[in-house]
Order: sequence, then C-alpha cells, then structure tokens
Amino acid sequence: MVGEKSVQSIRGMNDLLPGQIETWQRVESAVREVCCRYGYREIRTPIVERTELFRRSIGEQTDIVEKEMYTFTDNNGDSLTLRPEATASCVRAGNQHGLLHNQTQRLWYVGPMFRHERPQKGRYRQFHQFGIEALGWAGSDIEAEVIAAGERLWRSLGIKDLTLEINSLGSVAARANFRDALKTYLSDHVDALDTDSQRRLERNPLRILDSKDEGTQEVLDSAPSLSDFLEKAEEENFERLQRLLTTVNITFSVNTRLVRGLDYYTGLVFEWTTDQLGAQSAICAGGRYDGLVEQLGGRAVPATGFACGLERLIELVALQGEETPIQSPRVFVASLGDIPELEAIRHAESLRDAGIDAQVNCGQGNLKKQLRRADNSGAQVAVIIDDESVDTSTVKIKPLRGQGEQGTVPAAELLATVRSITGLSD
Ligand code: ATP
Ligand code: MG
Repeated sequence: MVGEKSVQSIRGMNDLLPGQIETWQRVESAVREVCCRYGYREIRTPIVERTELFRRSIGEQTDIVEKEMYTFTDNNGDSLTLRPEATASCVRAGNQHGLLHNQTQRLWYVGPMFRHERPQKGRYRQFHQFGIEALGWAGSDIEAEVIAAGERLWRSLGIKDLTLEINSLGSVAARANFRDALKTYLSDHVDALDTDSQRRLERNPLRILDSKDEGTQEVLDSAPSLSDFLEKAEEENFERLQRLLTTVNITFSVNTRLVRGLDYYTGLVFEWTTDQLGAQSAICAGGRYDGLVEQLGGRAVPATGFACGLERLIELVALQGEETPIQSPRVFVASLGDIPELEAIRHAESLRDAGIDAQVNCGQGNLKKQLRRADNSGAQVAVIIDDESVDTSTVKIKPLRGQGEQGTVPAAELLATVRSITGLSD
C-alpha cells in the first residue's frame, strides 16, 4: 500500500495517547473516589439514543438541538443521535428501569459526548463529561451537596481559584412571567442589541442575558431582574442554599444573569469557571431540573445535577504543574540464548504473580541492545539471564536508576532482591 494517504481521525475528535492517559486516569480515579464519598453510584448508558430523547429534554430552541447534534438515520429508518450530554439518558434509564419509583437515586457517569461545534482549544466535537444526578430530592440540602461534591473534586486535584456563580431561575411559571417582561423590555430596545440577541428575542429571550456584547449588556443593565419574579418559597430556598454553602466554606457569588443553555433547568443554576484557560472558561455547570423526569414520561420527580468537562478540567490539572507519573514496569527481564529465554519468561511470570510489574525483552538482540530497551522502558531493575545463570540457578541483577550495585543472586532470591532494590515491602 505504498503511497496511500494515511487515514486521519475526525476533526475535533482526539486520540488520548499513552503519556496523556495517565492524567486522565488520575482524574477519573479522583472522580470515582469523590462520588463514592458522597454515596453516588455509577450508571453507564448507551452513547447512541433516539433523537427524540434530546429534542424533548434539551429543548428544540437550544444551540445543541438546533445545530450541534450528530443525528443520523439507521438502517431501520430510525432517527438516532450521538449523545450531546448524559442527563437525559440518566433520566430515561431511571424511568425505563423503575429506578425513580418511590425511590431516590444518587447517580454519576463519565464518558464521551458529541457536539458539532467549531473545534478549538477546550472545545471539541467528541469530548468527555463527568456528571452527577441526584434524583428525588426537592430541597436546598441536596443542591448544596451537589455543589460541595464538585468543590471536593477540585480540591482533591489541587485546583484552586475556580469561581462559582449561582442563580435561581424560579419555577416554570415565574420564569414565564419574567420571560414576558424581559421580552417586552428588550423589544423596546431592539436596535441596541447585537444581531444574535435580536434573533433570539422572539424564541429564546432568556439566552440574551448570556450575551457578551457590550451594547446588549448596557441595555440589560436596566432590564427587569429575574429575582423580582421569584415566589416566596423559591426565594427562601435560594437563601437557604446560600447559607448551606457558607456553612461548608464554599465561596460563591450570585449572578442574576446566569441562565444556562439547556431548557430543562428550573430553580437553581450554577457554573464553575476559571480564568486560566482563555475563552473556554466553563468547567462545570448544572442546576435543578424538576420538570425533566415527567417531560420524559415518568412521574414528577425533583432532580439536581451537574456536568463537568473533563478536557478542560484536565487542562487545569496540567497547569498545576504536578506531574502524573508515567506508567512503566518495575523490572525488565533480558535473556541471551534459547534456554535463558524460557527462564526469563518463567521468572517474569513469577514476579507478576507476586504483584510486580515486569516486562520481558521480546525480539532478542545482544546485551547492549536489550539493556538500552530496559532503560527506555523506565524499569528500575534489569534482570539478565544467560547460559551461566541457567547452569548455576542464578540471575544477574542490574539496577538501572542508581540504586546499588550490579550483582548475581540465587534465582530463589530474585523476588526478595527486586523488592529490596525497588523499595517494595513484602
Ligand atoms: P459552553 O458555554 O462552553 O459551550 P455549555 O454551556 O455548552 O458550555 P454544558 O452543556 O453545560 O456546556 O456542558 C457542561 C460542561 O461540559 C461545560 O462547562 C464544559 O466544561 C464542557 N463542554 C461542553 N461542550 C464542550 C465541548 N464542545 N468541548 C469540550 N468541553 C465541552
Ligand atoms: Mg455549548
């Protein structure tokens, strides 16, 4: 096949290579640990779902559904979509398997999501989210817990300086009233709005609050405020949440213009952002979505959750400067000759039986070559087996990282010797 053009991955969809994967694994372990600490249990749902699921949950007039979904028709003629997020799938699974029937659920997930956006740093077409969903609780207590779980994760990864903003969108009714008032007000100032906002005015005026345009921001300064439309109980709930957050020493600010891009939020919305990653500053976002379970065919079940972008989180972890150790074997087993090669494999297997990571030299080669491979492998010790070793039931040991002298030991003492050189206890 000489001269054939090599096949490349799809733009915005990345390989995660050895060398990068170690940080991913570290972050994923931290995620698992924190979720466990709060009593959340993992759920895995399919990557492909019926398109209808996302249309009904995320909302027809959102950026995701309008232009970002990977949707296709399969051979049966069904419209399917690569999931752009996983909350809808968690709720679908909860309904489908009766998990929400007179029960509460604390769930978490991690995995790839797909959105057809313009790829750039921190924004990809296949990216990964970790998220938690607490299904069945209505109060500010669970909201504080969900936020605290996120904060504990940042802390466990050594990430500082994330900013937390919170807002309350109120009930569906409160929001509808606010929406009308905002629309009326903005219609009077339509000429001062940016073109995107003008386009949104009819169908999704709340999203205008998100606009970064200065002219639009100025108009918004005198716009009606969502907080004036909250009902008493909602206001009290939001105040209680703030008190709970303060109690657990979580710093936040209230941003009454924070609205989020998904239609299913009610009540609390929040976002964690960083100023260390340039334009793609949102690390984690979530809120309450009390209407969604019913909207997808279940009973009315209150729910709160968030989704966190792992690419951005990992970028931040990398900026902390703490290197994640690259995976390498502890021992490299070299051999010279046919019988020594058999012995090498036997010794390597018994080291592995004892829980020690061992790599054997494959592809033969002279001693110099094999020791170069041993060095490149990152191993701490090379074990060398030649005909003499076989004849005398010994092995040759060569520390590779300056821990002690080269020597020969009885084969029966291999394990103990490796342990002592590499600082492992029995
Ligand atoms: P943004 O405003 O950056 O587009 P969003 O509001 O669309 O974010 P959500 O749908 O709330 O994001 O997803 C939660 C998190 O997932 C985001 O805060 C971000 O960290 C991450 N995320 C979203 N889209 C992408 C993407 N295309 N590539 C990488 N990460 C993403
Ligand atoms: Mg987006």
